[in-house]
Amino acid sequence: MINPSTRLCDFPLRDWFEAIVEHGIRQHLSEPGLCFAPLEFGVHGRYLNRRETRGRAKILIALTRCRDGEEAVWDTLVHEVAHHAVAEICRPDDGDHGTIFCNVANDMAPRLGYEGRIMRETRRARYWPGSLRGPTRIKREVG
Ligand SMILES: [Zn+2]
Repeated sequence: MINPSTRLCDFPLRDWFEAIVEHGIRQHLSEPGLCFAPLEFGVHGRYLNRRETRGRAKILIALTRCRDGEEAVWDTLVHEVAHHAVAEICRPDDGDHGTIFCNVANDMAPRLGYEGRIMRETRRARYWPGSLRGPTRIKREVG
């Protein structure tokens, strides 16, 4: 069955992923699977590491994010790429939105044109980078 909302989700996630890694991470990351999926209410995105998938890492963006628009989808992808970077280049990982995630996020944010920083395990980390001011310069360049 084709979900009619998928029509609204025609965003170039692969191009965006590459731009976010190039500008925000500046280190090689493996290519995760990228797709839209129905997620629990209030959840914008989900990251599944290689241990969880037993293969390629996976980034899921909530289908409901599409109706919030392009910037919302971009922000969600940036957040999940930060989780991917933590999983791939930081050892050990200290949990969902702990110090390591916040360090990676705080490094990425200015490189991607966001203003402001986040602190460990706060609501702002959970909703980063939407919790900062945007839209981002890189997003505008990529289109
Ligand atoms: Zn998160």
